Amino acid sequence: MKHLSRTALSSFALILILSVLFPLQSCSGGYAAFSDTRFDYFDTVCTLTAYAPSRSVFESAAEDLFAAMEEYDRLFDIYNAYDGLNNLKTVNDRAGEPVEVSDGIIELLAFSLEMYGETGGALNVMIGALSALWHRCREEGVGLPTAEELCEASLHVSPDSLIIDQESRTVQITDPDASVDVGALAKGWVARKLLELLPESGLYSAIIDLGGNVATYGAKPDGSSWRVAIDTESGDYLKVVEVSGLSVVTSGDYQRFYVVDGVKYHHIIDPETRRPAEKNKQVSVICSDPALGDALSTALFILDSASGSALVQKYGVYALGIDADGNVFEYGEYPENAENGETSPEN
Ligand code: AMP
Ligand code: MG
Repeated sequence: MKHLSRTALSSFALILILSVLFPLQSCSGGYAAFSDTRFDYFDTVCTLTAYAPSRSVFESAAEDLFAAMEEYDRLFDIYNAYDGLNNLKTVNDRAGEPVEVSDGIIELLAFSLEMYGETGGALNVMIGALSALWHRCREEGVGLPTAEELCEASLHVSPDSLIIDQESRTVQITDPDASVDVGALAKGWVARKLLELLPESGLYSAIIDLGGNVATYGAKPDGSSWRVAIDTESGDYLKVVEVSGLSVVTSGDYQRFYVVDGVKYHHIIDPETRRPAEKNKQVSVICSDPALGDALSTALFILDSASGSALVQKYGVYALGIDADGNVFEYGEYPENAENGETSPEN
């Protein structure tokens, strides 16, 4: 399937990869379940499902959460400019000069640089020059970047060219041919920020699904966990996980791709080969922080099993995936669900 940028259609593959198994009508302990889906943010389908004491509480919380999503969507957009806003497109367009930005951009980029070090360079948000080449071909649905183009682009992916000045609240890309691409971790980072809003929202518990990036807040009012299905390319479930207070984030080679001469070229680039990573077909990470889960799932998708399992051990998360030969693998211990009430408001 060709990736169509910024259309709801492009998200259909994404939504397949994780599905929230949820009864439509349910009521428990004075709380009812509600759901709202929007197609406007992060080039994907975003759904909030929650237990709330009333419809009006849910609707008010949903408005706040979707407003936050809209704000971050604009801030982290590398394709569109918005009046009066310095977003990541501004930072890329003005490579060479410092750009004053809001805290969200500073925090996200600082986290990104930290994850570069932690993943041995597998996750590199300064990969923009390379990923843009592949993105252009994918958008057109034909052709491949030439070896010369890839070689030239790879000269402009150094994380050292991203300067974050915490005092002056500016970021600067010092290499005019380099650019940031935060696609690997922005949704998870936004999910982390949305989780921070939930204790004040009036919701009892919630599950936020940002196109394959699922974060949960508390458990259902009856104490049971949320059920999230990890799908495979064939549509079968790899596993149905029961989570409360945990996030489930998946990276896969069938989320965004195009086909040339029968070969699939997907969207996750191995910085070492400069080409779509070939070691795995999909990787899901389960942990409490969706930002970490997003960063790690992309990195694990790129890394080999030795480096991947070492990273999982270091962070104490759990990963489940399918390698390029079709073998299912698991790293780490399945994390304990947070106790209900630990992340939910008092009854
Ligand atoms: P995800 O779906 O979270 O695994 O992220 C995939 C997205 O991350 C791609 O669409 C690119 O925008 C970006 N990306 C691809 N390769 C890399 C990489 N090696 N490091 C950082 N970002 C990447
Ligand atoms: Mg990711």
